[in-house]
Amino acid sequence: MVAFRVSMTIVVNLCILLSILVSNCSSFPFFSNDIQDDENDTDSDAVMTALRDLGDKLFGEPNKDTGVAVSQWDPESELNPEELGKYAEGDILFRRTNEDLTRNGLKNASARWPKGVVPYEISPYFSQKDRAMIMSAIDEYHKLTCVKFVPRTGSEPDYVMITNSNSGCWSSVGRLGGVQELNLQSPGCLTKKGTVMHEMMHAIGFLHEQNRWERDQHVSINWQNIESGRENNFEKAKKQQTDAQGVGYDYRSVMHYSSNAFSKNNQPTIVSKVHGVKLGQRDGLSRKDVQKIRHMYKCSKRRSVN
Ligand SMILES: [Zn+2]
Repeated sequence: MVAFRVSMTIVVNLCILLSILVSNCSSFPFFSNDIQDDENDTDSDAVMTALRDLGDKLFGEPNKDTGVAVSQWDPESELNPEELGKYAEGDILFRRTNEDLTRNGLKNASARWPKGVVPYEISPYFSQKDRAMIMSAIDEYHKLTCVKFVPRTGSEPDYVMITNSNSGCWSSVGRLGGVQELNLQSPGCLTKKGTVMHEMMHAIGFLHEQNRWERDQHVSINWQNIESGRENNFEKAKKQQTDAQGVGYDYRSVMHYSSNAFSKNNQPTIVSKVHGVKLGQRDGLSRKDVQKIRHMYKCSKRRSVN
């Protein structure tokens, strides 16, 4: 019995020692870190590789055609306004002016915002109602994750500028370095909180859910219903590029396209393999979205917001 107790003590001590040695031990109660920085880990690399594969499609300028489409968008429709864009996968845009910066950014794999802090500025051209919608999206990030959007004081070199030009809903992915735009055309992109949160989730480093490498196990793509020329919006990531942070496929993700995205005939382009499941939503972060953000930013719990 004494020998058993001694060996159990050794095992417990070894476990504690191991927990100290293993860097990603944020869930261990005695050594919990709210947030850690590790910019060169595999999750971040996976996002970079996926972006590199999108290549030149990433780069461009905001365009009026997208703005017209979003101004005509019917909130009652099944589509999301961010699916109306002419940009990579509909709403991913790296401004040409950021190109050098961006390519270096990609090379340096600096997708993550240090300590999860995202300085931002909001264009003065938003109405009070629009600003309230943006703030409610930010509040939800603060409530559920450790990512913190902080008004820029002027000294932070890297920040998100939230603009509302008539060019649709779009953002680049991850932290570029310097100023990067996140555009929310009013009123289309500010009708649902989830659309604002979707673009913000791109800005903190996430891609679309339905293009995960293993998506064919969960959804079918009806290629015959996709608008000609937009098929590449449905290209899935290669297996080695997965950035799911160990979280399972999520039909309810705020990053999932709707079932009729890029349809040329009002017939579904994406169909769930589970009967009766609605694809995507724009009410807010899903439980799994929260898990993925917490994992990417290495935080096990919400952080208090000042
Ligand atoms: Zn998107």
